[in-house]
Amino acid sequence: MHDTAHPLLPPGTPLLHRAPDTLQVGGVDADGAVLAGADPAAVATLLAGLDGRRTQRAVLADAAAAGLQPGSLGALLDGLRSTGALLDLDAADLLASDAGPAAAARTAAELPAARDRTDSSRWGARRAASVLVQGATRVGVPLAALLAASGVGRVTVGDDGVVTAADAVVGGLTADDEGRPRGPAAADAVRRASPLTDLRPLPPGVSPDLVVLSRPWSASDPLVSGLQDAGVAHLVATVRGDTGVVGPLVVPGATSCLRCADLHRRDADPRWPVLAAQLTSGTDGPSGSTLTCWATALAAAQQALAYLDGSGTPAALSAVVELRPPDLTPRLRRWPPHPSCGCTGA
Ligand SMILES: [Zn+2]
Repeated sequence: MHDTAHPLLPPGTPLLHRAPDTLQVGGVDADGAVLAGADPAAVATLLAGLDGRRTQRAVLADAAAAGLQPGSLGALLDGLRSTGALLDLDAADLLASDAGPAAAARTAAELPAARDRTDSSRWGARRAASVLVQGATRVGVPLAALLAASGVGRVTVGDDGVVTAADAVVGGLTADDEGRPRGPAAADAVRRASPLTDLRPLPPGVSPDLVVLSRPWSASDPLVSGLQDAGVAHLVATVRGDTGVVGPLVVPGATSCLRCADLHRRDADPRWPVLAAQLTSGTDGPSGSTLTCWATALAAAQQALAYLDGSGTPAALSAVVELRPPDLTPRLRRWPPHPSCGCTGA
């Protein structure tokens, strides 16, 4: 490993003294125990200080000054890397993070999680991403807060309405927000979760990387958003009745779209257009229990981050993840491209 690497031991990794001369690093809830022999107390102190902000060269120089053998310590760090217990930050990751000790403390647990299947960091991509959540709902606001706290650089919530008492939810709008404009109240909720996230609306003519549609029925109206024609990726994340709905995640030109889903519903029920018109014309009131809203927000955040990071294949591409109480076990329903839609050219 090059000595300009920036080693990071994720916060909370157990450093356990197995015996007077033996230190165990991790390996309690996951694979990856590594046993070190020499001077375990000094090694533990040094490992606990691996925050990804110093080069390996600087770490080993400090180790030498503390009386440790840089060679054996370097081998230990390589051993920890091979088990996945130790990560190396990219210098660009640090530049992409908010400055200051408080921001660094908040980031410490998020940064190691932003990795793809090849263990490459996707933090920079996440920090550069922008998300617009349409609908300051009991799903949309906690979801916006989750994305911001996970490192998404710019998160805005669009909603022109007024907060009602029923909108309050853990991590979202509060009881004290009743009567406030929904947009600023949602921005405050995001700020509580992540004080330095950019909350400014995007400049005119600039599209977000992802739009989340979190109103129950208007979210799935293929005519409402215009996002398909604009080529903007969009994800439905809402609760209808008591069921959490995450998806489809529409990547225009590459997946099925909201119109495809609408056409499938028409195939199953010829009267669907009459029903849909009533559903989408009504006011979307708050629905879903706190647990259902949160399970939905969590599942949606995972889908959004997988898409924004490129860190995984989102399950909601041309599909819907449904979460029904009481078990809230995710169930996948496929919405393949509809042959009459032509949106994917398929
Ligand atoms: Zn389509």
